[in-house]
Amino acid sequence: MSFRHIAIIGLGLLGGSIGLAVAEHLPGAKTTGWDLSPDTRQRAAARGLVGHVAASAAEAVTGADLVIFCVPPGAMGAAAAEVASALDPQAVVSDVGSCKVSVAKALADALPGHNPALIIPAHPVAGTENSGPDAGFAALFKGRWCIITPPQINGADTAAPANVERLAAFWRALGSTTEVMEAAHHDLVLAVTSHLPHLIAYTIVGTASDLEAVTEGEVIKYSAGGFRDFTRIAASDPTMWRDVFLSNKDAVLDMLQRFTEDLTALQRAIRVGDGEALFTHFERTRAIRRGIIEMGQDDARPDFGRGDH
Ligand code: NAP
Repeated sequence: MSFRHIAIIGLGLLGGSIGLAVAEHLPGAKTTGWDLSPDTRQRAAARGLVGHVAASAAEAVTGADLVIFCVPPGAMGAAAAEVASALDPQAVVSDVGSCKVSVAKALADALPGHNPALIIPAHPVAGTENSGPDAGFAALFKGRWCIITPPQINGADTAAPANVERLAAFWRALGSTTEVMEAAHHDLVLAVTSHLPHLIAYTIVGTASDLEAVTEGEVIKYSAGGFRDFTRIAASDPTMWRDVFLSNKDAVLDMLQRFTEDLTALQRAIRVGDGEALFTHFERTRAIRRGIIEMGQDDARPDFGRGDH
């Protein structure tokens, strides 16, 4: 049974994209939305991100059979608490947060009166470095994964499979491929595939801009040499990424430790002139890039298909 009324809390990149994608792919479904920021609400209404921008969070969720929280990870609890009294007891509650263990706990703690089996977190692994109500677009989820992390008590799934499948069908309708995963495992996988790369990008761009011997003009002028791609990632939303690192602290620190050890091994190979170790390592990583392209998760063109220079 598909959802009839989807309420979207947070009308930035993710929330706006969901609203536009629902209008395109599920035209029979009603959408309502709410954002804390009056400017964002105004832009959301002007862009038609949802059918109706409500006057309060409670109004937005009234009558909804699916409520999706699209706010920064650290704001999930507060956003959920706002709607607690207005939620339909049968509504499926979900989110799009980049970390799952902490967000699942924040939602469950903020909604003590809601059936915990109906709180089913999810993470569409789709995004850009842009944020806000002007950043959303309907095709954001097309061909991307959406990982669903049903609640677990003592290691056992507590969500009814029918509701998990209902949510999965919703994401498939928006163009995603879905996968069900344990929240803790999700956090570990994303720590290495997303969170650590962002931390490295933030570090490198900061290091380059702090270098006194290199002028800012040179950093920008010669950025095509690999640095440019780091600057794109390092332009990602500061609020969201602060929350991601604080919310997924353990998994990120674990991955950072492994990364540091591997970096030290490469550092040693450079110092002792071990070209074979470097070559073998680079050959292995090139195969991973090819695998990503073969799975259709990126573009093989040198400019990643952006068409800019
Ligand atoms: P965004 O563009 O900044 O949108 C978030 C919106 O939520 C902002 O308009 C914000 O308003 C609003 N907000 C904050 N607290 C709120 C509250 N208590 N009630 C209602 N609205 C509130 O961020 P986003 O990129 O869409 O990210 C949203 C979520 O998606 C995050 O949890 C993130 O982890 C996840 N995600 C992001 C990406 C990505 O690439 N960006 C990808 C996958 C998943 P203000 O601006 O006024 O604070």
